[in-house]
Amino acid sequence: MNADQALRRDVALANRITERFGLSGAFGHASARIPGTNSFLIPTRRSPGLADENTLLVIDTDGKVLSGDGEPNSEFWIHARIYAARPDVGGVVHAHPPACICLTQIGQPHRIVHNSAGGFLDGVPEFERIGLIRSRELGDLLARRLGKGVAVLMRGHGISTALADVRTATVAACYLEESADLQMRMLTAAGGDASRLRVFTGEEAERVRDQLGPRVVERAWDYYATAAAQRPLGGA
Ligand SMILES: [Zn+2]
Repeated sequence: MNADQALRRDVALANRITERFGLSGAFGHASARIPGTNSFLIPTRRSPGLADENTLLVIDTDGKVLSGDGEPNSEFWIHARIYAARPDVGGVVHAHPPACICLTQIGQPHRIVHNSAGGFLDGVPEFERIGLIRSRELGDLLARRLGKGVAVLMRGHGISTALADVRTATVAACYLEESADLQMRMLTAAGGDASRLRVFTGEEAERVRDQLGPRVVERAWDYYATAAAQRPLGGA
C-alpha cells in the first residue's frame, strides 16, 4: 500500500470510527490534509459510517473540489478553513457527540475529570453560535474560535478536533466525548453541583498530557480502527 492509499484508508476508518463509537449517526465527517498541500481528503455526502476509501473527494481550502465524484458534505467548510488557518493541522474530525452537546447546553465548560482527557489541558473553547457551518465565513469564525487549540465545542451542535494527523484527531474526538460523558455523569451524581467535581488541577492534568501523544494514540487507534473495520455500522 503506498502513502496515498494508506492515507485514504485512514480517512475512511476515521469516519467509520466516529459512527461506530457513537460520536456520529447520519452526520459527521473526518478528513486528512494531503501532506504538503492546501487540499484534503474527505468522504462524499453520506453517513461517516458509510465512508469508502475509494470514493473520497479532494477539496482545497477555498472549497473547490479538485477530484472525486459526488457531492461534498455541506459542512466541508469546517475542514477547509481550519486547514487554511492552521498549517500545523493534518487531520480534522467533525462530529455530533451527545455528551459534548449536553455540556454546551447546560453552560458547563469542559473539565478534565479523567486521565484520557489530559491532552485537553490547554482548554476546549466553545463556539456559541448554533446552526450548521455551511459557508466560508462561518468556517473562518469557527477556526478563529478554535485558535491554536486541539478541539472546539460547538453549542447545540457538536465538536471539531484539529491535530497533526487524522489518527490523532480521531482519537481526540473519542476521548473528548468519553470525557464529556463522564463529566455529565459526575454532575448528575453530584446533584448538578459542579463545585463537587474533583476536577484535575493544572499540575495533575500536566502528568497525563501525553494521552494525545504518539505512543498512546497508536495504541488507541489500533483498537478503534480494528473495531470499526470489523463492525462498520451500528455500534456495540
Ligand atoms: Zn455538524
